[in-house]
Amino acid sequence: KSSGSSTPLEDNINVVVRVRPLSEKEVKASDDSIVQFPGNGQILCEGQNDSQKPKLFTYNVVFEPGATQEDIVQYCGIKRLIEMAIEGFSSTVFCYGQTGSGKTHTLTGPPQLFVGKKPDLNHKDHGLIFRSFFYLFQLLQQRQENTQFILKASFLEIYNEKVIDLLNPGAARKKPLAVRWSKKMRGFYVENLFLVDCEELDDLLAVLEEGMRNRAVGSHLMNDHSSRSHTILTVHITSEQQAENEKSVFISKQGKINFVDLAGSEMTKKTQSEGKTLEEANNINKSLMVLGYCIASLADSKKRSGHIPYRDSQLTKLLADSLAGNGVTLMIACISPAKSNQCETINTLRYAARAK
Ligand code: ADP
Ligand code: MG
Repeated sequence: KSSGSSTPLEDNINVVVRVRPLSEKEVKASDDSIVQFPGNGQILCEGQNDSQKPKLFTYNVVFEPGATQEDIVQYCGIKRLIEMAIEGFSSTVFCYGQTGSGKTHTLTGPPQLFVGKKPDLNHKDHGLIFRSFFYLFQLLQQRQENTQFILKASFLEIYNEKVIDLLNPGAARKKPLAVRWSKKMRGFYVENLFLVDCEELDDLLAVLEEGMRNRAVGSHLMNDHSSRSHTILTVHITSEQQAENEKSVFISKQGKINFVDLAGSEMTKKTQSEGKTLEEANNINKSLMVLGYCIASLADSKKRSGHIPYRDSQLTKLLADSLAGNGVTLMIACISPAKSNQCETINTLRYAARAK
């Protein structure tokens, strides 16, 4: 149910597209599919009117509507990102797309699978995060005796450029957390963010559960909260390896993997159509716009060595090390196949093609 292109998933930024199935409502309304799958990582999307030719886009991998959650983990390139995080790199996977295109489904699956109860570990709908945690622990258990791993996890939300700790939401709602630059780490970090020690798989799953539960509580306060906010779940991995011939010497590596559920991409357009500058866009979604600038600049070999505006938004500050080259990024562009979403679908396909 997936078609790969000839490009292996080895670039700094890899791009895959997932097309969700038509919903029941769309089927009832005869809101038909406008996308076709010629193979080789390609998508053919109908033109917006009869005079327009269909448009062909190419990616690393395309997942058709029948693709399962397990297919995504097997073929989207996430395993390499996890392996690199263990080796000390900064990895990021983010889901991009309009509201309702399947971002949260892809990353976490339906919340009712595990929020507030003990999950059935084998359920077919568990998302990429849940499955990545399994793979991570599988890998750690195979590692040699002379290496120790320390895992910590954090889960935050960026809403209106304010950073809220999803593992400690009460405190943060009164006063958002500050993003600061650390000279020592040569990177940005969130001050006073909870970092939870995770010794076992269950500990990571508890972090996912708690963050999802707290996000749901926040969304009741505002209708479109989840379409306007970004969430970042991060697993920090420190490894201490004993040197071969000097037992008292340890080689330490620090890697991490970020799982990012972005605000709905329709927010970028809203910002631009209201004629706002980058500064003024604050109230709608500055982070999403700046991420677009950064990715487009990174993907352009002429601009790549120039100034990349990471500092212009909270989201890009926190993803800078991963985007900038000390790591790898996987973009999962999510689209709806329905005719009624055609305009947003083409925008997403363009954005994703530009990033490649
Ligand atoms: P987003 O997070 O992008 O706003 P969601 O993940 O919430 O979108 O998906 C919108 C709806 O579509 C949800 O009801 C979700 O369960 C359903 N959905 C999304 N992707 C799939 C898929 N691949 N298979 C089945 N249902 C899906
Ligand atoms: Mg969502």
